[in-house]
Amino acid sequence: MAAETTREESKAKKQKPREIKFRCQLCGKDKPLQEMVSITRFRPVLVVCQDCAREMR
Ligand SMILES: [Zn+2]
Repeated sequence: MAAETTREESKAKKQKPREIKFRCQLCGKDKPLQEMVSITRFRPVLVVCQDCAREMR
């Protein structure tokens, strides 16, 4: 039983660094989803990071 718990813990640790990241279409940097902004003024919609979205205003 103890061995099973340890195995599950290591499995969870392995998945932890897996973070959803998007590539900014302007600067090409990978940023977490919370920092991405979609510019709906453009077609197709432009997905950029917060820094680039600020510069575009
Ligand atoms: Zn950017």
